[in-house]
Amino acid sequence: MKKNDIVRTTIVDMNSDGEGIGKADGIPLFIKDTVIGDEVSVRVTKLKKNYGYGRLEEIITPSPDRIEARCPIARACGGCQLQSMSYEKQLEFKQGKVVNNLRRIGGLNVYVVGTSDEDDGIPVYPVIGMENPWRYRNKAQLPVGKDADGKCVAGFYAGRTHHVIAQQDCLIADERNQALVDRVLSFMDRHGIEPYDEESGKGLVRHILIRIGYHTGEIMVCLIINGRELPFADELVEELKDVPGMTSISLNINTKRTNVILGEKCISLYGNGYITDRIGEITFRISPLSFFQVNPTQTEKLYETALKFADLSGDETVWDMYCGIGTISLFLARRAKRVRGVEIIPQAIEDAKYNAALNGFTNTEFYVGKAEEVLPSIYEKEKCRADVIVVDPPRKGCDTALLETIVKMQPQRVVYVSCDSATLARDLKWFAENGYETKCVQPVDMFSQGVHVETVCLLTKLHSKYHLEVELHMDEMDLTQQLIKKF
Ligand code: SAH
Repeated sequence: MKKNDIVRTTIVDMNSDGEGIGKADGIPLFIKDTVIGDEVSVRVTKLKKNYGYGRLEEIITPSPDRIEARCPIARACGGCQLQSMSYEKQLEFKQGKVVNNLRRIGGLNVYVVGTSDEDDGIPVYPVIGMENPWRYRNKAQLPVGKDADGKCVAGFYAGRTHHVIAQQDCLIADERNQALVDRVLSFMDRHGIEPYDEESGKGLVRHILIRIGYHTGEIMVCLIINGRELPFADELVEELKDVPGMTSISLNINTKRTNVILGEKCISLYGNGYITDRIGEITFRISPLSFFQVNPTQTEKLYETALKFADLSGDETVWDMYCGIGTISLFLARRAKRVRGVEIIPQAIEDAKYNAALNGFTNTEFYVGKAEEVLPSIYEKEKCRADVIVVDPPRKGCDTALLETIVKMQPQRVVYVSCDSATLARDLKWFAENGYETKCVQPVDMFSQGVHVETVCLLTKLHSKYHLEVELHMDEMDLTQQLIKKF
């Protein structure tokens, strides 16, 4: 077998990025856009010593688990890696990914609750799925470019290029986005405002960021620009401000040659520069630069799980590391004596403080800085203590300096919220070697149609007799029961 050969194979497995794996000539090939059980012909695009990559040419016999992707451009876009799998199978894939990582990387003895492999290891509860896994996202960030006729378009980058393909209607995004995007694009066309070109570094408008409050319907439109100002900005405001729900129109300045989307500075053109939304009964102010979970219905379930695992009685001191705008912090503050949050983005901490006041909390404190620096330094100074520590790091997981301080503080419980089960497994292993054992694991599907999965874990001090009764919602159980039985 050599590069560019066309080979036949059957997909027997899937890696954690959602690429199918099939063997040809004794070598595993990673093939995007395939589903386990597909018999396919592929073009070999890259060959290494022990593995290779292939591009799907033809599906000879489709897998019984294959469904037709709803989105006509799912393959070109690549944002929804699992659209060709039934939702049940997607959940099964995610459950398997978490379990495999915990076993292989974390060295943990886990079992899936409700399956035949049940034993006395660490329970992983069935992944909490969505009732309707479409149109769930509250945020869109679309790159802007030009089509062949020189008209402005917004959509997504064609695989590994700087070329923007127009995206008419993303099926996991809010239906209201398209009309907003159309207004921005026609404003640009009318005034000859150039989209940014990644290759040359020239042009002005890089991305359109839209956020919509799920419960409030408040809309934020933010143009990320490669410059200090937007010509005819007043007209953009006129164009958009009558859209029902429009609350904030702003610019974000990013003049760097980088693929990081947002710059550090925002300029408000209309409104106060933020929108509000609710999670449960708590209201949050959200700025363009602040992190806010993108799937509002599942976020509530995620935070409820974190709260359940934290098992607060009202007397506890809790630390919320990587706290963003204080979402988890305020969820916990209702049931704790004191909550202290740490977050690296200054605007997010401003939001967190504002949100605490807005909701009448007086038992919270927030600190700007790196979790791995702030907590160790406060601990050195105050020898502060904690009953519960929550961590919700970005994909790379927790820094060892943070983990070491957590262990020194000896909290009763650690609640780990993770968006990457590989780094989660690595960190759980570290905890196990340093006196904290994983008690239970709850995956939550926050990114339906995509490969990512969120996971909440409870850890307790080793040898503590701590036992938590976890009640699963019956409807959630029903949703996953069947697949778990098969799993
Ligand atoms: N718990 C919040 C945010 C989770 S996302 C929520 O559920 O909404 C992870 C957060 O960690 C982001 O807000 C990001 O800005 C922040 N972050 C990234 N690196 C960090 C670090 N080294 N120290 C503290 N915060 C960090």
